[in-house]
Amino acid sequence: MNGIFLTGVGMITKDDILEVLENYDRDNLTIATLGSHSSLHMLKGAQLEGFRTLAVCQEGRDVPYRRFGVADEIIIVKHFAEMNKPEIQEKLREMNAIIIPHGSFVAYVGLDNIEKDFRVPMMGNRRILRWESERSLERQLLSEAGIKTPSKIEKPEKIDRPVMVKFPGARGGRGYFITDSYEGFKNKFEEMKQRGWVTDEDWEIAHIEEYIVGNNFCIHYFYSPLADEVEVLGMDRRYEANIDGLVRIPARDQIEADLPPSYVVVGNFPIVVRESLLPQIFEMGDRLADAAKKLVPPGLLGAFCIQTMCTDNMEFYAFEISARSDGGTNTFMDSSPYSFLRYGDFMSMGRRIVREVRIANEQDELEKVVT
Ligand code: ADP
Repeated sequence: MNGIFLTGVGMITKDDILEVLENYDRDNLTIATLGSHSSLHMLKGAQLEGFRTLAVCQEGRDVPYRRFGVADEIIIVKHFAEMNKPEIQEKLREMNAIIIPHGSFVAYVGLDNIEKDFRVPMMGNRRILRWESERSLERQLLSEAGIKTPSKIEKPEKIDRPVMVKFPGARGGRGYFITDSYEGFKNKFEEMKQRGWVTDEDWEIAHIEEYIVGNNFCIHYFYSPLADEVEVLGMDRRYEANIDGLVRIPARDQIEADLPPSYVVVGNFPIVVRESLLPQIFEMGDRLADAAKKLVPPGLLGAFCIQTMCTDNMEFYAFEISARSDGGTNTFMDSSPYSFLRYGDFMSMGRRIVREVRIANEQDELEKVVT
């Protein structure tokens, strides 16, 4: 299956990007990204590494980039999706821009455009972004890596244990629910429909997976293609509306109010893990990086994240991955305990990504880190 993505018609190839790089003034690179998601610390990190920075901002959303002073230049567009417009791409190339991708960049520019149209060099592997977005590909990667995942239930009629029901698309955790039977599924689906959070079409595409009772750890890794090594740089857990608000209501009142939960990420908490679990955490990162090299060469270049639940048996189950900087990296815009252990200095994920670009450029090896 991966062959399709490697050789698909109209795909931007490594040679296309190397051609763009040939016309770049390598002593005058700009680090650029779309102004949202985890871009503040990426841009700050780029400044600390000595680069000029650029944020592409949607009208009305440029304030943080100006007020925190992290963007040396700002391009304003009417809508984020316009970052893909030929004239914006041209401007980015004129500025010798290296793009740092993140979740909002992928969502707004769009996977197809990133694969086929967006001819600006990007730190990381542009092909692997599809593998985090499509659940079947994501599972293939995790399974190749031998990382445990919650088991998948094929259809609502087969629900025989507590499950979490998820829906695809950009609704971000709204409409997700927990149940343990077909009856429960029908009732809760109907309830979500009444709220306008799901439609009849969602029945068929509902993703039903085993509910893992445990604690959430989103682990932020960096794979250095230059050193061929995976680093653990930080961890977070999510702060989600309204589930994290609901649990502040006493049980008696929760039952009385009968409020349906949603899982919309509105913030993140930094977190550390029990020290004896770290070997497992490094092993998961190493294995995923190896699996990615095999299935989607050149693999996971730079930032990636494994979102897990850890059970009381101290086993990790991965329920999602990010093949680029994850939003939870915002919990260490300066440092995390883990990035401190490794670098003893201010080291955010953004700065680490840009440092790799800087070193690659200094060694005349940019082609190892961009696609
Ligand atoms: P989104 O699509 O918004 O990223 P997630 O898949 O991250 O949604 O799930 C939302 C939340 O639900 C996560 O923060 C996690 O705590 C919890 N969660 C996800 N999958 C499971 C699971 N299989 N078992 C238990 N909790 C889960």
